[in-house]
Amino acid sequence: MAQAFFGGVHPNDMKAATNEKAIEKLAPPAEVVIPMSMHIGAPCKPIVAPGDHVTIGQRIGEPGGFVSAPIHASVSGTVKAVEPRPFSMGGKMMSVVIENDFQDTVCDAVKPVENPDSLTPEELVDIVKNAGIVGQGGATFPTHVKISSGLGKVDYVIINAAECEPYITGDHRTMLERPDQVIKGATLLAKCFGVDKVYIGIEANKQNAADVLNAKIAELKAPVKVEVLHTRYPQGAEKQLCQAVSGRQVPSGKLPADAGCCIFNLNTTCAIYRAVYEGMPVVSKIVTVSGSGVIEPKNIECPIGTPIAKLFDACGGLKDETYKLIMGGPMMGMAQYDTDVTVGKGTGAMLAFAGDEEKHEANPQCIRCGKCVGVCPIRLEPIFMYKYLMKGDIDAWQNQLHGMDCIECGACTYTCPARLPLTHAFRLGKQKVNNARMKAKAAAEAAAKKEA
Ligand code: SF4
Ligand code: SF4
Repeated sequence: MAQAFFGGVHPNDMKAATNEKAIEKLAPPAEVVIPMSMHIGAPCKPIVAPGDHVTIGQRIGEPGGFVSAPIHASVSGTVKAVEPRPFSMGGKMMSVVIENDFQDTVCDAVKPVENPDSLTPEELVDIVKNAGIVGQGGATFPTHVKISSGLGKVDYVIINAAECEPYITGDHRTMLERPDQVIKGATLLAKCFGVDKVYIGIEANKQNAADVLNAKIAELKAPVKVEVLHTRYPQGAEKQLCQAVSGRQVPSGKLPADAGCCIFNLNTTCAIYRAVYEGMPVVSKIVTVSGSGVIEPKNIECPIGTPIAKLFDACGGLKDETYKLIMGGPMMGMAQYDTDVTVGKGTGAMLAFAGDEEKHEANPQCIRCGKCVGVCPIRLEPIFMYKYLMKGDIDAWQNQLHGMDCIECGACTYTCPARLPLTHAFRLGKQKVNNARMKAKAAAEAAAKKEA
């Protein structure tokens, strides 16, 4: 088994509720609400208007810059509105609302590549860009930017199939049910980067998926190798996966590409397969719907823009005592307060919790047990980071304690017996530093303008 990384925790994986259930296709919703920002970078500009007829795979949002990704219609029908709607990241976001005509008409532009084996790296980057592919594990960084900035620098390509967050099993089911897409997508990446092998990192709790992929690799004689990893959270974090699979460490403040590694989420790899072999851009997503508040947990494939209320309806609804909804996993996901928010390109799970699972401390006090230091995969010192943030000493937090290196994995919060809201505090700390940086940049630009 491949080597591991420092720290980490072993939460109960809670995957049994869905890991043996086949992916179900959602009955198409009557309406989808597609936000114009489902990626890191500039939001898209809507290029359709109310009354327009659209088809599946038709471009409806034009990228706002190089670091951006186009957005496509996920159902065929009529554009009902282009207006701000509730957004999963908080507040409202400009969205295209499409009334489904239930005809499933596919756009004429959706055409498979005739000879995928002959694609040059530049052609693949172009296809990925036009298909609106972004990191589908939740990072949502535009994939064409990742590939093009790694070409010539990267000699180690890894597919992230760790799926280390509790509850989530969409990638596991994808590997079992669609191994062709995974291995052919990985082969496209091997050719693009000119590497002998692409490595797929899978945690040991998904050995049956590793077996299925190995059989497919042998059948296709593909340049792909499966690496089974110890089950440990946060195995799926980029720096940790890079170290566990390649043995290379990513320096502080740097990216895996600086260590010669490029990492792609498993579903991103399948999206690359679909863009090339089917010509289909990103128009659907597999979402694990689970947690103690869900009556019948499932893995559901639905059009992008499906309201989360429809996912819960397809799972028999929510229990009356449900008190919390989380989009994403329980360690890193975001609490949601409105079931009108919709599924985006990075949505991998919708969890609902009922009963008294969450335990709060009214006035938590550190007991100096040091457990948080032992589990931090970045080797930070959460106990001191928290102390300095509470004192308001952002400078020491950033420069002496390297708070900006925190990957917000939640391992320290999970392990803290005093229930200190450590990760939450670090998120706010990072926000403060970023705000100060933006303010300083704006002031410098204003001063330069004044001088000119
Ligand atoms: S949330 Fe940050 S400080 Fe806490 S364990 Fe993860 S990386 Fe370390
Ligand atoms: S785990 Fe919690 S209680 Fe223990 S040292 Fe860290 S912050 Fe303090």
